[in-house]
Amino acid sequence: MPEEHLRALCEHYYPTIKEIDDLKKETDTVILGHSYIKSNIIYSVADYVGDSYELSKNAMEAKQKRIIFAAVRFMGETAKILSPQKDVLIPGTEAGCTLADSITAEDMLKLKEEYPDYAFLCYINTTAEVKAHCDACVTSSNVYNIVERYPSDKIFFVPDRLMGQNIIDEMKARAVKKDIKIWTGSCYAHEEYDPEMVKALRMKYDDLTVMVHPECSPAVLENADFVGSTSQLYNYVKKKEYGHFLMLTECGLISRIEAEMPERNFVGTCSLCKYMKSNTLENILRVLKNPQPEDYIQIDDEIIKKAQLSINRMFEIAES
Ligand code: SF4
Repeated sequence: MPEEHLRALCEHYYPTIKEIDDLKKETDTVILGHSYIKSNIIYSVADYVGDSYELSKNAMEAKQKRIIFAAVRFMGETAKILSPQKDVLIPGTEAGCTLADSITAEDMLKLKEEYPDYAFLCYINTTAEVKAHCDACVTSSNVYNIVERYPSDKIFFVPDRLMGQNIIDEMKARAVKKDIKIWTGSCYAHEEYDPEMVKALRMKYDDLTVMVHPECSPAVLENADFVGSTSQLYNYVKKKEYGHFLMLTECGLISRIEAEMPERNFVGTCSLCKYMKSNTLENILRVLKNPQPEDYIQIDDEIIKKAQLSINRMFEIAES
């Protein structure tokens, strides 16, 4: 980027960043930023950057009493479930998620009635109410191990149908016999990838490493060299210095890696999540200065307790 343009950008953002920084200290606030949000937040005011699971742990361990979670609503809810004594605020103006919004507490009640013998496992990309109805939670980094180790032969996985199909394939590969049923949700940013695009790029670059998030389709995963969560993808590229990389996930992660490891060569396309990108510096400043009731994550105490059980079950199984 030309130096003048860079200077103009810095001058444009500096007053907002300075005000946010001062207010963070005055109001005892920590700012968490998901890897998919805009880089002008990640590299200016975010105290921690990572995936939803890592950031919820940062939220628990942070000594500040107030958290601004620049991501999407269900991630703010997870932070609140793990740190109920703290105020959690979300600055995204479109803080939804096609996965989390694909299933409701009412859907869960109907499913549990219809499938009384099944254990219900939910991806962390679900609302607090849905987590409260599940037996255990999983993340994209531990999903296969939790499903394999969960002490039930009958599993109902919600809400991601693509990840669910990937679980079925992985259990077959591991010779694990379980009856697995899946819900119909999907992430609109990850479902769009086409295996033909991957094959075409493989023909073009013989040193290509293809890395894929498990929310992509089984046909895309079949063509991958590595499948992992946002943090696992980041760490994989960090260790592998040479060749070309195709990373099939939200563009924010690739921008972050390009900024931190400029010598890595990325090819192909990535996708944008409009919910993540609705977090802005201006809205973080507004939430810090003048928080409105709808900016706060508010969850009923009973739901928090039940959702905690499902998350704690995940920790127990992951560590067993
Ligand atoms: S990338 Fe997909 S799963 Fe993640 S917040 Fe956006 S819509 Fe939801």
